[in-house]
Amino acid sequence: MSKAGLIDPISCPVCKGEATLAMGRCDSVQRMAQALGVDAPGQQEDGAAGLARCLFCSLEFAFPMRGPGPEFYKWLTRSGFYYPARRWEWSACASRIARNARQVGSDYVVIDVGSGSGQFIRELQSIAGVSVFGLDHNSEVVAACRAEGLEVIEGGVGDLSVRWPAGVDMITFWHVVEHVEDPVALLSDARALLRDGGELCFSVPLTPMSYEHSWPDPFNEPPHHLTRWNLRALDALATRLGMRAEYVFPSASPILARLVKALMVQAMPPFGVRGRLRKGVRLATYLLTHPAALFEEIARQRRHPRREGRVLPDLVLVSLRP
Ligand SMILES: [Zn+2]
Repeated sequence: MSKAGLIDPISCPVCKGEATLAMGRCDSVQRMAQALGVDAPGQQEDGAAGLARCLFCSLEFAFPMRGPGPEFYKWLTRSGFYYPARRWEWSACASRIARNARQVGSDYVVIDVGSGSGQFIRELQSIAGVSVFGLDHNSEVVAACRAEGLEVIEGGVGDLSVRWPAGVDMITFWHVVEHVEDPVALLSDARALLRDGGELCFSVPLTPMSYEHSWPDPFNEPPHHLTRWNLRALDALATRLGMRAEYVFPSASPILARLVKALMVQAMPPFGVRGRLRKGVRLATYLLTHPAALFEEIARQRRHPRREGRVLPDLVLVSLRP
């Protein structure tokens, strides 16, 4: 509150433009618990963040921008929420790194921020001319990676300049940017570590995802994701950082696959029902009792955002260069 007793305007963390509170969204933790078929964590404070939307770049972000803390992530892992073991963007980025390394000719240094169990850095081990290092705050995962012979540094982006005073060639962030309280500061610090010709690469979900009109995905909302990105917001991010953005997209899923996914999340809890037969029965029952749903969903999928005529997928790989 300001001194006059009026509510201070909300400012966009990316473009600094004015934003409005779009929704209270206080129930996303409860909806995560519901989707996972478990009890919500006892402490509900973390789920109380609202969701604001920038009037200029249309970034959606948590208000206030405050991460949920380690207890929330422990609960999520205990509750059966898994981060995928393979990602499309890892292969896409590995090809990019191989091409860059051939052009650079000398030792091409890649740092993977938030390297976790080391799946991405493992993928780069066989590329000639590339030295890859993980970076993570979690001492347990760092020790596990080192035991396997992977080079992982314990710490954050701020700890890298001592080891590489002349900079590095690429810094990657796989599904990190949407989790941090200050994405601009993180990427700006990383930009300062790039040597000439260097590049930042990261992936984020593209919002709205193709099923979110059917089921607003609580895992793509605060407190799990503090920012929800679209291409306009990513353009604003590049402008704010003084960098050039290039977007690489996987193919969007075919309309039939998107239809099934969107109808499934209407018909049943996304993670609570197991087995193809059981899911099929639930979906068929839903379609019989909601005969209009299929036609509404076809119309919605036809309206899904496009770029240059092609339907946008639920994910983007972003490359930023100074
Ligand atoms: Zn903005």
